[in-house]
Amino acid sequence: MRPMSKLAYPLTIRSHHLLCMLGFRGLGYNSTFVSNMRSVVEELRSDCTLALTLVAGCDVICAACPHKREGKCLRKTDSEAKSVSLDLKILAKLGFEPGTQVSFCEALERVKERIRSEDMAEFCSDCEWWGLGYCVAGLERLKARLNALL
Ligand code: SF4
Ligand code: SF4
Repeated sequence: MRPMSKLAYPLTIRSHHLLCMLGFRGLGYNSTFVSNMRSVVEELRSDCTLALTLVAGCDVICAACPHKREGKCLRKTDSEAKSVSLDLKILAKLGFEPGTQVSFCEALERVKERIRSEDMAEFCSDCEWWGLGYCVAGLERLKARLNALL
């Protein structure tokens, strides 16, 4: 049985973080951020039936980010607008509305069906983590699976 969670479900996930989670290998903005993101990713990987609310805005991963202030992404002056715009593009690509509730499995199935590596290159080309190749490798790993489980 899964240990008692500290996370509240449905878990609020900003849509572009569905892609970031695919590439998570323990890197991030500081140790608090990494520890929080690891908890979220590990819990979802342990049970993909867990429910998410997909949003275009700050989420449970942003919650421990040093760049989140006043409920916004203030990493750079244009980060809030760019992050929300990316969330909306990904929601549209997946065929979901902001605020849609789905299981993590269903969200991953949509990612697997509808997002290609070329799309990710377009979405992510100006992200500082893109050059590592972890995220596109995570997407390709997902596509190679028979089901959506990570
Ligand atoms: S490249 Fe950046 S925005 Fe794109 S999935 Fe990876 S961490 Fe997320
Ligand atoms: S950089 Fe911005 S979008 Fe990314 S986790 Fe931090 S607050 Fe959220």
